[in-house]
Amino acid sequence: MLRRTLALEMAYRPGGVLATKLHLKHIATATTEGYAARPGGAQAELLAEVNKHEADRNLTLVLAEFRNYQQGILPAGPGARNLTDFFASIDSTLDTAPADGPKVQRNDRDILNLLSKRADVLHLGPANYCWFTDPSRALCLKLAGTPTATRPMIGMCDSARCPQATHHGVHRPVWAEHAERTKTFLGQLGTTRATEHERLTSDYNRAQRVITEIDDATTPHENEDPI
Ligand code: SF4
Repeated sequence: MLRRTLALEMAYRPGGVLATKLHLKHIATATTEGYAARPGGAQAELLAEVNKHEADRNLTLVLAEFRNYQQGILPAGPGARNLTDFFASIDSTLDTAPADGPKVQRNDRDILNLLSKRADVLHLGPANYCWFTDPSRALCLKLAGTPTATRPMIGMCDSARCPQATHHGVHRPVWAEHAERTKTFLGQLGTTRATEHERLTSDYNRAQRVITEIDDATTPHENEDPI
């Protein structure tokens, strides 16, 4: 606590970061910046870079899913309808450009502009995409008792039940592995472990349901009749 207080006191003075670095014998200035919670240095630059990479990655993912939608490969999960409706609205925007209006270039850049808002709310879970459009609908925040938080709590995600979650083909292996592992555990349970048996069975059934939904949704559909 003393080192921390000292770092804060020193780092905010002119030339203080370097003085703190030397005094606390840090090898890297970034360590001192983190230690002193001092914004604007290498740490802030790194954060900005990470955020930029994250934003680019999200845009690429949303574009890939939009292209999938156009091929009739749909999302699954509780938030699938919402996402499909969104893609349908983008698709119709592209289709309804007035003939005498400015020429619409349907290249990726134009479509990305339309998709960028949605990309901003995308968070990646290990087994789902989280479209964090409305904190009040986030199941993880409800479970955590923090309904006004500005970010989802991916560690508490229950994507099979949250209305903001979608499952895609890329998530299938995770669910398949989970189902397989749960099945193995079930097979090893003794007959006296009734409660555990019930819990694992419902876990297994849930994983199987998600897998079936992903398989159904990713089998190309006609876009006029989304699931
Ligand atoms: S429960 Fe999962 S999908 Fe829902 S908001 Fe939280 S992290 Fe996102």
